[in-house]
Amino acid sequence: MLNDTYRHKGLRKKLVDLLREKGIDDERVLEAINQVPRHLFMDNAFINFAYKDQAFPIGADQTISQPYTVAYQSQLLEVKPKEKVLEIGTGSGYQCSVLLELGAKVFSIERHRSLHLKAKRMLNELGYFPKLFFGDGYKGLPAFAPFDKIIITAAAPYVPEDLKSQLKVGGMMVIPLGEGESQKMQRLIKKSETEFDVEVYGDFSFVPMLQNKSFGS
Ligand code: SAH
Repeated sequence: MLNDTYRHKGLRKKLVDLLREKGIDDERVLEAINQVPRHLFMDNAFINFAYKDQAFPIGADQTISQPYTVAYQSQLLEVKPKEKVLEIGTGSGYQCSVLLELGAKVFSIERHRSLHLKAKRMLNELGYFPKLFFGDGYKGLPAFAPFDKIIITAAAPYVPEDLKSQLKVGGMMVIPLGEGESQKMQRLIKKSETEFDVEVYGDFSFVPMLQNKSFGS
Protein backbone atom coordinates (compact mmCIF):
# COMPACT_ATOMS: atom_id res chain seq x y z
CA MET A 1 0.00 0.00 0.00
CA LEU A 2 1.27 3.47 -0.83
CA ASN A 3 1.29 5.24 2.45
CA ASP A 4 2.65 8.78 2.73
CA THR A 5 1.73 9.90 6.23
CA TYR A 6 2.09 13.19 8.11
CA ARG A 7 5.03 11.60 9.87
CA HIS A 8 6.77 10.96 6.54
CA LYS A 9 5.97 14.48 5.37
CA GLY A 10 7.42 15.90 8.60
CA LEU A 11 10.60 13.85 8.24
CA ARG A 12 10.91 15.04 4.65
CA LYS A 13 10.69 18.68 5.72
CA LYS A 14 13.56 18.05 8.15
CA LEU A 15 15.57 16.43 5.37
CA VAL A 16 14.98 19.50 3.18
CA ASP A 17 16.20 21.75 6.03
CA LEU A 18 19.31 19.61 6.36
CA LEU A 19 20.01 19.82 2.61
CA ARG A 20 19.64 23.59 2.81
CA GLU A 21 22.16 23.67 5.67
CA LYS A 22 24.52 21.55 3.58
CA GLY A 23 24.44 24.20 0.86
CA ILE A 24 21.65 23.24 -1.56
CA ASP A 25 20.03 26.58 -2.40
CA ASP A 26 17.92 25.93 -5.49
CA GLU A 27 14.40 26.21 -4.05
CA ARG A 28 12.88 24.29 -6.96
CA VAL A 29 15.15 21.34 -6.21
CA LEU A 30 14.36 21.51 -2.49
CA GLU A 31 10.65 21.58 -3.25
CA ALA A 32 11.01 18.56 -5.55
CA ILE A 33 12.75 16.63 -2.75
CA ASN A 34 9.94 17.74 -0.44
CA GLN A 35 7.36 16.26 -2.83
CA VAL A 36 8.81 12.79 -3.44
CA PRO A 37 8.04 10.01 -0.91
CA ARG A 38 11.55 8.55 -0.83
CA HIS A 39 10.48 5.82 1.61
CA LEU A 40 8.39 4.19 -1.11
CA PHE A 41 11.49 3.69 -3.27
CA MET A 42 13.25 1.71 -0.57
CA ASP A 43 13.20 -1.88 0.63
CA ASN A 44 11.01 -2.48 3.66
CA ALA A 45 14.08 -3.23 5.80
CA PHE A 46 15.29 0.36 5.42
CA ILE A 47 12.01 2.22 5.26
CA ASN A 48 12.48 3.83 8.68
CA PHE A 49 15.75 5.36 7.53
CA ALA A 50 14.37 6.82 4.32
CA TYR A 51 14.75 10.43 5.42
CA LYS A 52 18.29 10.09 6.66
CA ASP A 53 20.81 11.65 4.33
CA GLN A 54 22.34 8.33 3.35
CA ALA A 55 22.51 5.86 0.49
CA PHE A 56 20.86 2.45 1.06
CA PRO A 57 20.83 -0.94 -0.70
CA ILE A 58 18.03 -1.50 -3.23
CA GLY A 59 18.97 -5.04 -4.30
CA ALA A 60 21.20 -6.32 -7.12
CA ASP A 61 24.19 -4.83 -5.23
CA GLN A 62 22.99 -1.32 -6.06
CA THR A 63 22.00 1.68 -3.95
CA ILE A 64 19.50 4.50 -3.88
CA SER A 65 21.66 7.66 -3.92
CA GLN A 66 22.04 9.84 -0.86
CA PRO A 67 19.49 12.71 -0.93
CA TYR A 68 22.31 15.28 -0.82
CA THR A 69 23.82 13.72 -3.94
CA VAL A 70 20.45 13.68 -5.73
CA ALA A 71 19.89 17.34 -4.78
CA TYR A 72 23.45 18.31 -5.78
CA GLN A 73 23.27 16.67 -9.21
CA SER A 74 19.76 18.03 -9.82
CA GLN A 75 20.91 21.53 -8.90
CA LEU A 76 23.95 21.35 -11.22
CA LEU A 77 21.71 20.15 -14.05
CA GLU A 78 19.60 23.36 -13.93
CA VAL A 79 16.51 21.52 -15.19
CA LYS A 80 13.82 23.67 -16.79
CA PRO A 81 10.24 22.48 -17.33
CA LYS A 82 9.72 20.49 -20.57
CA GLU A 83 13.42 19.81 -21.07
CA LYS A 84 14.38 16.36 -22.32
CA VAL A 85 16.61 14.75 -19.73
CA LEU A 86 18.44 11.43 -20.10
CA GLU A 87 19.34 9.64 -16.87
CA ILE A 88 21.83 6.76 -16.79
CA GLY A 89 21.15 4.36 -13.89
CA THR A 90 17.43 4.35 -13.02
CA GLY A 91 18.11 2.30 -9.88
CA SER A 92 15.20 2.81 -7.50
CA GLY A 93 13.64 5.55 -9.64
CA TYR A 94 14.09 8.17 -6.93
CA GLN A 95 16.33 10.59 -8.85
CA CYS A 96 14.05 10.09 -11.84
CA SER A 97 11.01 11.23 -9.86
CA VAL A 98 12.87 14.32 -8.61
CA LEU A 99 13.63 15.24 -12.24
CA LEU A 100 9.96 14.73 -13.11
CA GLU A 101 8.95 17.01 -10.23
CA LEU A 102 11.23 19.63 -11.81
CA GLY A 103 9.07 19.40 -14.92
CA ALA A 104 11.48 17.45 -17.12
CA LYS A 105 10.53 14.86 -19.70
CA VAL A 106 12.67 12.01 -18.43
CA PHE A 107 14.27 9.10 -20.28
CA SER A 108 16.13 6.70 -18.00
CA ILE A 109 18.23 3.59 -18.66
CA GLU A 110 18.98 0.75 -16.23
CA ARG A 111 21.12 -2.34 -16.91
CA HIS A 112 19.55 -4.56 -14.23
CA ARG A 113 16.24 -5.91 -15.45
CA SER A 114 14.92 -6.53 -11.93
CA LEU A 115 15.60 -2.92 -10.91
CA HIS A 116 14.23 -1.57 -14.17
CA LEU A 117 10.95 -3.44 -13.65
CA LYS A 118 10.67 -2.56 -9.97
CA ALA A 119 11.32 1.14 -10.57
CA LYS A 120 8.77 1.18 -13.37
CA ARG A 121 6.09 -0.35 -11.18
CA MET A 122 6.68 2.06 -8.30
CA LEU A 123 6.95 5.18 -10.45
CA ASN A 124 3.74 4.34 -12.28
CA GLU A 125 1.91 3.59 -9.03
CA LEU A 126 2.92 7.03 -7.81
CA GLY A 127 1.63 8.62 -11.00
CA TYR A 128 5.03 9.24 -12.62
CA PHE A 129 5.41 8.23 -16.25
CA PRO A 130 8.99 8.57 -17.45
CA LYS A 131 10.27 6.62 -20.47
CA LEU A 132 12.19 3.74 -18.92
CA PHE A 133 14.60 1.49 -20.79
CA PHE A 134 16.40 -1.73 -19.94
CA GLY A 135 19.79 -1.44 -21.63
CA ASP A 136 23.31 -0.09 -21.67
CA GLY A 137 23.77 3.47 -20.53
CA TYR A 138 27.09 3.84 -22.38
CA LYS A 139 25.12 3.76 -25.63
CA GLY A 140 22.48 6.26 -24.53
CA LEU A 141 19.29 6.43 -26.59
CA PRO A 142 20.19 7.49 -30.14
CA ALA A 143 16.56 7.15 -31.28
CA PHE A 144 15.44 9.83 -28.81
CA ALA A 145 18.45 12.16 -29.05
CA PRO A 146 19.31 14.97 -28.77
CA PHE A 147 18.79 15.71 -25.07
CA ASP A 148 18.87 19.06 -23.28
CA LYS A 149 20.50 17.48 -20.25
CA ILE A 150 22.17 14.18 -19.35
CA ILE A 151 22.72 12.94 -15.79
CA ILE A 152 24.83 9.90 -14.94
CA THR A 153 24.12 8.38 -11.52
CA ALA A 154 26.90 5.77 -11.47
CA ALA A 155 30.69 6.23 -11.37
CA ALA A 156 31.90 6.58 -14.95
CA PRO A 157 35.53 5.74 -15.82
CA TYR A 158 35.39 8.24 -18.70
CA VAL A 159 32.79 10.38 -20.50
CA PRO A 160 31.05 8.07 -22.99
CA GLU A 161 31.34 9.40 -26.56
CA ASP A 162 27.80 8.34 -27.45
CA LEU A 163 26.43 10.45 -24.60
CA LYS A 164 28.49 13.47 -25.68
CA SER A 165 27.07 13.25 -29.17
CA GLN A 166 23.48 12.84 -27.90
CA LEU A 167 23.64 16.14 -26.04
CA LYS A 168 22.26 19.31 -27.66
CA VAL A 169 24.65 22.18 -28.29
CA GLY A 170 24.07 24.41 -25.26
CA GLY A 171 23.14 21.36 -23.19
CA MET A 172 24.75 20.08 -20.01
CA MET A 173 25.92 16.73 -18.69
CA VAL A 174 26.48 16.04 -14.98
CA ILE A 175 28.73 13.04 -14.41
CA PRO A 176 30.68 11.60 -11.47
CA LEU A 177 34.03 10.71 -13.01
CA GLY A 178 36.58 8.25 -11.75
CA GLU A 179 37.10 4.67 -10.69
CA GLY A 180 37.72 3.43 -7.17
CA GLU A 181 36.41 4.81 -3.90
CA SER A 182 35.52 8.32 -4.88
CA GLN A 183 34.60 10.33 -7.94
CA LYS A 184 34.81 13.99 -8.90
CA MET A 185 31.51 15.50 -9.93
CA GLN A 186 31.87 17.23 -13.27
CA ARG A 187 29.61 19.38 -15.38
CA LEU A 188 30.18 19.48 -19.11
CA ILE A 189 28.61 22.24 -21.15
CA LYS A 190 28.42 21.56 -24.87
CA LYS A 191 29.67 24.64 -26.72
CA SER A 192 29.65 23.24 -30.25
CA GLU A 193 29.54 19.80 -31.87
CA THR A 194 33.15 19.28 -30.81
CA GLU A 195 33.81 21.61 -27.85
CA PHE A 196 32.90 21.22 -24.19
CA ASP A 197 33.54 23.41 -21.17
CA VAL A 198 34.37 21.27 -18.15
CA GLU A 199 33.66 22.32 -14.57
CA VAL A 200 34.98 20.17 -11.73
CA TYR A 201 33.15 19.99 -8.40
CA GLY A 202 33.56 17.99 -5.17
CA ASP A 203 34.04 14.34 -4.28
CA PHE A 204 31.22 11.81 -4.23
CA SER A 205 30.97 8.05 -3.97
CA PHE A 206 28.92 6.07 -6.51
CA VAL A 207 28.52 2.44 -7.51
CA PRO A 208 30.36 1.79 -10.80
CA MET A 209 28.87 2.39 -14.22
CA LEU A 210 29.42 -1.06 -15.64
CA GLN A 211 30.57 -1.80 -19.16
CA ASN A 212 28.23 -3.75 -21.33
CA LYS A 213 29.78 -7.17 -20.91
CA SER A 214 26.92 -9.13 -19.44
CA PHE A 215 23.55 -7.80 -18.50
CA GLY A 216 22.44 -8.43 -14.96
CA SER A 217 19.03 -9.73 -14.03
N1 SAH B 1 19.51 7.07 -9.82
C1 SAH B 1 19.41 5.95 -8.91
C2 SAH B 1 20.78 5.58 -8.36
C3 SAH B 1 21.09 4.20 -8.72
S1 SAH B 1 22.72 3.61 -8.42
C4 SAH B 1 18.40 6.19 -7.80
O1 SAH B 1 17.93 7.32 -7.65
O2 SAH B 1 18.07 5.25 -7.09
C5 SAH B 1 23.32 3.45 -10.09
C6 SAH B 1 22.52 2.57 -11.01
O3 SAH B 1 23.22 2.55 -12.26
C7 SAH B 1 22.40 1.12 -10.56
O4 SAH B 1 21.05 0.77 -10.50
C8 SAH B 1 23.14 0.35 -11.65
O5 SAH B 1 22.56 -0.91 -11.94
C9 SAH B 1 23.03 1.29 -12.84
N2 SAH B 1 24.05 1.10 -13.89
C10 SAH B 1 25.35 0.76 -13.73
N3 SAH B 1 25.97 0.68 -14.93
C11 SAH B 1 25.02 0.96 -15.87
C12 SAH B 1 25.03 1.03 -17.31
N4 SAH B 1 26.14 0.78 -18.03
N5 SAH B 1 23.87 1.35 -17.92
C13 SAH B 1 22.73 1.60 -17.22
N6 SAH B 1 22.66 1.55 -15.88
C14 SAH B 1 23.79 1.22 -15.20
